[in-house]
Amino acid sequence: MLGSERIRTLSYEGGIREISERAASMEKAGRDIVHFEIGQPDSDSPQNAKDAAIDALRRGKVAYTPRAGISELRKALADLEETHGIHSSWEDVVVTCGAVEALMTVFLAVLDPGDEVLIPTPAFPAYFDQVRLCSAVPISVPTAGDPDIDAIEKLVTDRTRLVVLNSPCNPTGHVISPECNARLFDLAERRGLLLVSDECYADFIYEGRHESIAAIPDARNRVFVVSSLSKPLSMTGWRIGYVLCPPAFRSFITKAHQILTTCACSFAQAGAVTGLSSLKETTSSMTAEYRERRRLVLDGLSACDGLKFIPPSGAFYAFPDISALGISSMEFCAELLEKEGVAMVPGDAFGAPGHVRIAYTTSKERIRDGMIRFVKGWNRLATGRE
Ligand code: PLP
Repeated sequence: MLGSERIRTLSYEGGIREISERAASMEKAGRDIVHFEIGQPDSDSPQNAKDAAIDALRRGKVAYTPRAGISELRKALADLEETHGIHSSWEDVVVTCGAVEALMTVFLAVLDPGDEVLIPTPAFPAYFDQVRLCSAVPISVPTAGDPDIDAIEKLVTDRTRLVVLNSPCNPTGHVISPECNARLFDLAERRGLLLVSDECYADFIYEGRHESIAAIPDARNRVFVVSSLSKPLSMTGWRIGYVLCPPAFRSFITKAHQILTTCACSFAQAGAVTGLSSLKETTSSMTAEYRERRRLVLDGLSACDGLKFIPPSGAFYAFPDISALGISSMEFCAELLEKEGVAMVPGDAFGAPGHVRIAYTTSKERIRDGMIRFVKGWNRLATGRE
C-alpha cells in the first residue's frame, strides 16, 4: 500500500474537490458557472504590499529570516492585536506560513498523543485533521450560534487539553458574543484548559463587533490567537499568518514552527509590513463591498420557501440549512451545479451535513445571477415543478 496510514485516514475534503473539479470541467466545456465555492477574496493584494515585496527582492532580502519572523512585522502584528484590546509583547508573536501553519504549530506545541481537543462544529476542516496528525483526538461539539458551554463542559475529561474557537466562523459567519467568551474563559480557568482562537476573519464584521477572548484580563496565559493576512489583505498566496501565544509557550511555538518550515517567506514578510500600514483602509472598503454582497445572498435565501438560515454577522459566507428537501447536501450541490451552474461546498466538509456554504467572493452582478439560479433550483427541488 502506497502512503502512510496517517494520511490515508484523514478526511479533509468532504466533497470540496468533487464539486470544484466538476465545475472546472463544465466550464472548460463552455458552461457558465457562478462560483460560490471559493473561500478567498476576489480582489488583488494592496499595491503598496506588492511594491514593498518586490523592493525587498531587489534589495536581496532572499535569505532565511529569524525563525519567529522579522521584528518589524512582529511589532506591527502586536500593534494590530492591541487594537483588538489584546496587550502583549511583540516577542509573543510568531510569524508562520499562513494560519494553517499557525494552527499546526499550536497543536504540535501543545498536544500529546491521546489528548482531546473540543471543536464547536460546523468548523474549518483542517482543525480535525491537524489534531489527528498530532495523534490527538478531535471531538466535535454540535453548535448553532454561540458555542454551547454546558455541552462543552459535559465533554471535558482529564485528557481534554484544548478548545478551538473560530470567530467570525468559517463556514457560518457567526461572531461569538462577549458573554459567551466570558463563560468560555471561566470554563477554561475552572477546568485548566487552553484555548485556540482563530480570528482570521476578524476584519469582516457586518453586525455587532468582534471581541477577542484574548482581550479578557488574564486570558493571555491561556489563549493562542491564530490569525493571518490572507483574508484582510487578500494575500492568500503570500502565506503570512501568525500565532500570538501565551508567554510561557513562546519557545515551544518557535521550535514547532522551526521544525515545520524554518521561517515564513522573507520578501512576503517585508511586503506584509507595508500592507499592514494600510490595513484599515483596505478592510473598510472590502467590508463595505461584502456587506452589499451579503445582502444579495440573504435576499435570495429569503425568497426560498422552507429554507432555514441564520444571517451571518461576519466573514464572507452564508450557511443555509437545506435539510427540508430530504436530500443530502452533496446531492443538492451536484444538482445545483449540473442544472443551474452554481458551485457551492457541501456542509459535510465542515462536519455539518444538511447545509451548504455559499461564499460571496464574487462580483455583485455574478451574485445576483447566482442567487436567481439558486432560488430556481431550490423551488424545483421543493415543489417538483420547473
Ligand atoms: N482558519 C480559517 C477559519 C480559515 O477559513 C482559513 C482559510 O480559509 C484558515 C484558517 C487558513 O488561512 P491561511 O490562508 O492564513 O492559511
